[in-house]
Amino acid sequence: MNLEAYGFTPDMTPEQTQEIPARITAVHKERYALVCAYGETYGRLKTKEYYGGEEEFPTVGDFVLIGYNPGGDSRIVKTLPRRTFFSRRDPAPGRGEQAVAANFDYVFIVQSLNQDFNPRRLERYLTLAWQSGAVPVVVLTKADLAAEREPYLRAAEELAAGVPVLAVSARTGEGIGDLAAYAAPGKTVVFLGSSGVGKSSLVNALAGELLMAVGDIRERDGKGRHTTIHRQLVMLPGGAMVIDTPGMRELGMWDVSVGLDEAFPDVEQYLGKCRFGNCRHQTEPGCAIRAAIESGALSPQRWQSYVSLKTESAYSDDRAAFLQQKRQKFKAIAKINRQRSDD
Ligand code: GDP
Ligand code: ZN
Repeated sequence: MNLEAYGFTPDMTPEQTQEIPARITAVHKERYALVCAYGETYGRLKTKEYYGGEEEFPTVGDFVLIGYNPGGDSRIVKTLPRRTFFSRRDPAPGRGEQAVAANFDYVFIVQSLNQDFNPRRLERYLTLAWQSGAVPVVVLTKADLAAEREPYLRAAEELAAGVPVLAVSARTGEGIGDLAAYAAPGKTVVFLGSSGVGKSSLVNALAGELLMAVGDIRERDGKGRHTTIHRQLVMLPGGAMVIDTPGMRELGMWDVSVGLDEAFPDVEQYLGKCRFGNCRHQTEPGCAIRAAIESGALSPQRWQSYVSLKTESAYSDDRAAFLQQKRQKFKAIAKINRQRSDD
């Protein structure tokens, strides 16, 4: 097994290390499914590093260092730095941020060319995608059902400002080849999109076969019972990987302002150009935003979207609350650490 097929590059590991690299393919309570040079295996977090130390808890897609154990669960000792990631608020109170997928190359933003097309949501997804550090691709599905696709394509292109916009159909196969250019061997993709827009159908079209059957693996747990682990990072027959975790599906808005500049380059270019530094862009003279809207250079809808997304992100940017959550997390970890003595 060559971990480079899973997107690993040797520069990711420190030079001197006894441990070997692995990639997390599923998180299952306290147990992690992994791939490494020896193939598929399982691992558990080493207490000293994770509950006493500063290591980030791994998530699906993370590259980690393991002490390989051929006869049982390996020990995960380090989470290697993430190139890209998505996170959301941890559902457990006071736990702060939780990564839900890591080290993906592309974010396929999926909306359908009929009922689901929603410019507001598209902007939100673009913001999340830029913020993750990966490259967004807008995928408009069910092209076979769309009576008229041009207006949707144009609207999406205008919003996405430079991001590729593809019309595809899992039913007829139209556009799947263009998508496969991104879902290339060694690349990892994630999908953002409402339920029912055709994400699973796209994965299956890319795979050319039914994947869910491949994704589910059976293994014996410690007591000899069979359990099913649903793989959350799956390698497609062509060599690209898809990450799909429950957390991905519930992605909320977290610190969204980091991605705002990239999502709204057309709007941001006018900011700071008003005559008055504290311009509210309403009735002030010399307002660059109003001038751009009046000249038609900036669409009023784009400005409105920017303003409302900014307002929304102001709530999720509550730094004081975030720091408070971090402190509570460390307290909780210290407590777990005192209760444990197995390592
Ligand atoms: P998901 O919830 O985003 O994973 O969506 P699914 O892949 O489960 O698709 C939802 C529904 O849309 C299913 O009934 C699919 O058969 C249908 N669907 C998906 N892709 C296409 C397509 O390209 N064309 C048509 N006509 N139907 C599609
Ligand atoms: Zn102004």
